Amino acid sequence: MKVIYVDNNATTQVAPEVLEEMLPYFNEFYGNPSSMHTFGGMVEHKIVEARERLAGLLGASPEEIIINSCGTESDSTAIRAAILSNPDKKHILTSRVEHPAVKNLFEYLSKNGYRVTFVPVDRKGRLDLDYLYKNLSEDTAIVSIMWANNESGVIFPIEEIGGVLKEKEIVFHTDAVQAVGKIPIDLKNVDVDMFSLSGHKFHGPKGVGALYVRKGTKYSPFLIGGHQEKGRRGGTENVASIIGLGKASELAAANLSDESIRVKRLRDKLETELLNRIPNSIVNGDIENRLPNTTSIAFEYVEGEAILLMMDEYGICASSGSACTSGSLEPSHVLRAMGVPFTAAHGSIRFSLSIYNTEEEIDFIIEKLPPIIERLRELSPFWKKAQ
Ligand code: PLP
Repeated sequence: MKVIYVDNNATTQVAPEVLEEMLPYFNEFYGNPSSMHTFGGMVEHKIVEARERLAGLLGASPEEIIINSCGTESDSTAIRAAILSNPDKKHILTSRVEHPAVKNLFEYLSKNGYRVTFVPVDRKGRLDLDYLYKNLSEDTAIVSIMWANNESGVIFPIEEIGGVLKEKEIVFHTDAVQAVGKIPIDLKNVDVDMFSLSGHKFHGPKGVGALYVRKGTKYSPFLIGGHQEKGRRGGTENVASIIGLGKASELAAANLSDESIRVKRLRDKLETELLNRIPNSIVNGDIENRLPNTTSIAFEYVEGEAILLMMDEYGICASSGSACTSGSLEPSHVLRAMGVPFTAAHGSIRFSLSIYNTEEEIDFIIEKLPPIIERLRELSPFWKKAQ
């Protein structure tokens, strides 16, 4: 069965060009980049090139990039570095809709001596900026706000927030894991101090990520060890993956304009056709200000998990807006923060496209999904009651 993969916010296919460039570094050029010999040096120059390619994608300088293992490591490192550099400040601020990589660390810190503000979002998933600004104080060590939400795709006004925080002595970190490779980013024009990304979200390999740390920002390493990354992140480099991250960055920069227009057109077609063909379906999130590849659609009065299982029979891979906790299906914290009603949150499906999706695949989903929802609604007591 052919796989129709529209779950690219979860992870992406490694681009063939990326894989090709990585392969020789497993068994041919397997030297340690720290070694003094020429064989090791052959690897070192590829790491230099990867860092330059990634810096080029972000409008950063290569010295501002610390390569590590994933988005989660970047988030943890940034937040811990900010609080370690500001030991007297005991207030930290984030949004209610962050990925667990940020949310769970803030919750942990709230039990360990920090006062935490979680900024709410409205029904469209837009950040309450007044609330954010009103809660800043001299005691605030860090503001961590994601660039784009992984479930709704809603983009937050990072440039604007950065402009306000620049005037204050507060570290500004953004989790841009979902933004990189999907929308243009130029860190020369945005006042963020730290910025997290992850290779596997934009056609690079899993297990490699990076943290951008603006020149002059106080920093302390999370992994203390060898001199790698100029002592800012110890551990022998994951050479092949770093090379893959560099190649993926180069491809993303080349594809950003044309391909994201094509992806957006396919996303819009999928969304419009599903809304037209399926009654009681609603988009979750601000349609004016979203990632071009993402749509979260609530199909009222059905269970997201049942939809996923039935789509799976056709090879269609997407995600639901629920998380299975202690045997019961709870709507995700993102949909709950947005105030999506119970009957809609339960039937929410996230479709996230990539440059590898085709028009035929989108047509296939448009054909197969409406009868699935119809069948499930025939079985739904909530649907019958609502009629
Ligand atoms: N932040 C966001 C917004 C994400 O979507 C993800 C992954 O889904 C992460 C952080 C974590 O990234 P990683 O899987 O590389 O640790």
